[in-house]
Amino acid sequence: MARYTGPVCRLCRREGAKLFLKGDRCYSTKCAIDRRNFAPGSHGQSRRQKKVSEYGTQLREKQKARRIYGVLERQFSNYFDKAERATGITGENLLRLLERRLDNVVYRLGLGASRKEARQLVRHGHFTLNGRRTDIPSALVKAGDVVAVDPGSKSLPRIKELMERSSERAIPEWLSYEAEQARATVTALPAREQIDAAVAEHLIVELYSR
Ligand code: SF4
Repeated sequence: MARYTGPVCRLCRREGAKLFLKGDRCYSTKCAIDRRNFAPGSHGQSRRQKKVSEYGTQLREKQKARRIYGVLERQFSNYFDKAERATGITGENLLRLLERRLDNVVYRLGLGASRKEARQLVRHGHFTLNGRRTDIPSALVKAGDVVAVDPGSKSLPRIKELMERSSERAIPEWLSYEAEQARATVTALPAREQIDAAVAEHLIVELYSR
């Protein structure tokens, strides 16, 4: 499936917000948003000053959410359909679904510097879900699930490094993490206030309701 492989800092600059797509660099002074906070391209600076239509604002919010979680257009629209069918507030349901993706959980635990790295590590089979190795980044976790580093992968240099550094991350309240075992239990499904993605989800709902 086609996935964006270009420079990711351009995506942040396009959205005018830090999307944390590049791991450690995002927390350093090298972050492109801190240095050049205007849209990429030769008309980037003038584009920011133009008045954005209501549709444009809604579209940008959807793109921002899609880019934060690294989800393709079709997948995102499927998540929206699922969120709409579920009980509760559609926008919140949408973010909660995205947050429950296995690659996002791995990222939240600090076992991937970025969601992109977390997704790759999951794909390569370095994680287990309820004791079974799984290589599906989009697998949705539920309350009571246990996500862990596969025992066979714990000795790999990159995994070891991530395990050592994972304690530096603030682990969300809905995950209970045992750093020694590199194992986390999903204690509850995430509530909206526990999701730190800076997305105005109601704008996405408005976009899909057009
Ligand atoms: Fe975005 Fe990270 Fe690049 Fe900064 S360093 S622009 S937050 S991807």
